[in-house]
Amino acid sequence: MVDSYSADALEPHFVELIRRAATDLPRDIEAAIARARDGERQMSAARNALDMLLINIRKAREASAPMCQDTGMNLWWVRYPAGPHEHALTTAIHAATVGATKKSYLRPNTVDSITGHNDGTNLGGGAPQIHFHQWDKTFIKADLLLKGGGCENVSGQMALPNAEIKAGRDLEGVKRAVIKMVLDAQGQGCAPGVCGICIGSDRAGGAFAAKEQILRHLGDENPDPRLRALEQDLMQACNGLNIGPMGFGGKTTVLGMKVTAQHRLPASFFVSLAYECWSCRRWSAEIDVSKNEARFTEETFVAGEYNASSHKKGA
Ligand code: SF4
Repeated sequence: MVDSYSADALEPHFVELIRRAATDLPRDIEAAIARARDGERQMSAARNALDMLLINIRKAREASAPMCQDTGMNLWWVRYPAGPHEHALTTAIHAATVGATKKSYLRPNTVDSITGHNDGTNLGGGAPQIHFHQWDKTFIKADLLLKGGGCENVSGQMALPNAEIKAGRDLEGVKRAVIKMVLDAQGQGCAPGVCGICIGSDRAGGAFAAKEQILRHLGDENPDPRLRALEQDLMQACNGLNIGPMGFGGKTTVLGMKVTAQHRLPASFFVSLAYECWSCRRWSAEIDVSKNEARFTEETFVAGEYNASSHKKGA
């Protein structure tokens, strides 16, 4: 049983977590991009764009350099054993953010929203975002997502029903809403993307739950057969829009569709879309505080620890 955390001991583990997230794309995303490249026409702009992404991913990993100039809004989900206060975790994450910025794993990326001033630390109101959850295990698990700004710009939310797209308050309406938002993006936000989707909740809860879905492994399987079928339908429909990588046309507009549903009020029915670019930078650290040891893993998210649904990992 650990009574307290040492921010100094934790900080290097968090710097390494940031480095991995910024420079080493998870294998499931890279493999999906490679499969997409193989499916695009020879000499097409789509295939060329995906080839360039794969070269960029490999070079970033080899050089331990950020794979994109925008190193994203840093979103942390930290689960920790009951007992110690979370203050030292916050201190360590803040110190790691400054340290990783100095080492150029992160670009000085966040600015004061009113003045636009950048103090070069990546610290400020709501930056980084840290979400704490106590759990009954004996180790810390920190999941980190570096969420790009361009793809955040094309994320969205719609309230149903919507007469313009003939979307009612049902799964067919949800499908129409998601297709409309992906269509409106037109490949901006650096397609091909991974779409996290939440049906229901309120506006803030829906946006957050949608973003959590981005943490799911591309190969996992939604245990809800209705949502699983919806994910498959959406993949097929969105990849049939001929928007393609970076909007160049082609078969690959999205790499993944991950859907959750949350309870809502009878008065409202929101569909929230968190659009993540190809640069889907998510990594996790499991830290045994008593031994000061960390294990780094691409397995970021076991849903059910955050919400009511659970997802089992597939092939
Ligand atoms: S949307 Fe993603 S890939 Fe595009 S510039 Fe932003 S972080 Fe980079």
